[in-house]
Amino acid sequence: MSIAKNIAQIKSKLPEDVTLVAVSKTKPVDMIMEAYEAGHRDFGENRVQELVEKQGNLPGDIRWHAIGHLQTNKVKMMAPFVHLIHAVDSEKLLKEINKRAQENKRVIDVLLQVYIATESSKFGLDKDELINLIESGILNDFSYVRVRGLMGMATFTDDENRISSEFAFLKDCFENVKIAFKADQFNILSMGMSGDYPIALKHGANMVRIGSSIFGVRN
Ligand SMILES: *Cc1c(COP(=O)(O)O)cnc(C)c1O
Repeated sequence: MSIAKNIAQIKSKLPEDVTLVAVSKTKPVDMIMEAYEAGHRDFGENRVQELVEKQGNLPGDIRWHAIGHLQTNKVKMMAPFVHLIHAVDSEKLLKEINKRAQENKRVIDVLLQVYIATESSKFGLDKDELINLIESGILNDFSYVRVRGLMGMATFTDDENRISSEFAFLKDCFENVKIAFKADQFNILSMGMSGDYPIALKHGANMVRIGSSIFGVRN
């Protein structure tokens, strides 16, 4: 199967309003170009260094998504161009993104990452931290950051019921925050990867992040 065919096949299963982020981490630029030439524009990377390097070597109209856990000292490098930062999980990070966005005279769109899995290795805010962050009103202080929605990663497991309940939980958080936050632009729910995106779609995902089903397995 070619990359273009893989993308077409996945897209045929996605409702019209769902954005496909092609996760190109560890994959070379010529593979990204193959997807680009087939018309794809949204790409996701989890390492900022790699994201910045690829951005410099690829067409300027690609929308780059930073999907991985993020350290504050890495924000600066991608602030001039990043399209959406998916994994914001602290006030400290929001503050840094706000600062770097202002320096670049732009507003940066972000998602808050919510911890939904049972694995201790996964990052994100828990429900209480999420509620506290919203209710503190602090999000309105960051004029150069626009919180667009939530992101989460389910447990890596074959247990579909577990995955399903984790995505249902995230959807529930999303609906609650949407009401509390009262912001029209809060409308992105990023959940679902190669192994579990059909379940995520059932629970209302409108952005999926798919790597191996497009580019092949990673080493
Ligand atoms: C790698 C990665 C993906 C894509 O994983 P696949 O299983 O290859 O589809 C999605 N989201 C995040 C945060 C990732 O790091």
